[in-house]
Amino acid sequence: MGSLIELEKYAKENNVPIIMQDGLEFIINYIKEHNIKNILEIGSAIGYSAINMALINANIKVTTIERNENMYAEARKNIRKFNLEKQITLVLKDALEVNITGKYDLIFIDAAKAQYIKFFEKFKNNLTKDGVIITDNLNFHGLTKNPEEIQSKNLKALVTKINNYKEFLKENKEFKTEFYQIGDGISVSKMVH
Ligand code: SAH
Ligand code: MG
Repeated sequence: MGSLIELEKYAKENNVPIIMQDGLEFIINYIKEHNIKNILEIGSAIGYSAINMALINANIKVTTIERNENMYAEARKNIRKFNLEKQITLVLKDALEVNITGKYDLIFIDAAKAQYIKFFEKFKNNLTKDGVIITDNLNFHGLTKNPEEIQSKNLKALVTKINNYKEFLKENKEFKTEFYQIGDGISVSKMVH
């Protein structure tokens, strides 16, 4: 039997950046309210968010992509523990290299922050007509507000990339995006038509 509390504990002990509780709650409510059935997730880690989404109800299908073999192995194990192999398809690939042909009501971007624009541009083609793209970690643990105070060059570059992604969303004519100060900062982008 799987236990969510155990997954949370594992994530904490091993520094796995799983979604924050209120961010997760927001997404779960969104899925329920909009009757979402098909979900594509970029960045599985240990499967925590995918498992939570699949547990909402048995009609929900999640395809989740992970490039790190250790994470993938852990996610696989966890999905099995929860008996969710029928609902969750786990793909071991770099999301930018995988070919996904299905259509999804919800695409959850939660992988390498430097690639957010690329993920968005690639996977928008996999949205159903009224589908949405939800992105996590737009606050990057609060770092995006004061980039000038960050010492590390790499970190600074990453924060700039996240801020570029936010600009990209704000200026995007194809999609309308709402930003929420929930969890670590979440956006919901819908196609305009
Ligand atoms: N969604 C998870 C957390 C994901 S953490 C949860 O909330 O439970 C981000 C994960 O994305 C990491 O495991 C990392 O290995 C993976 N990742 C980063 N860039 C990726 C890429 N280009 N393709 C696939 N996975 C990627
Ligand atoms: Mg996240």
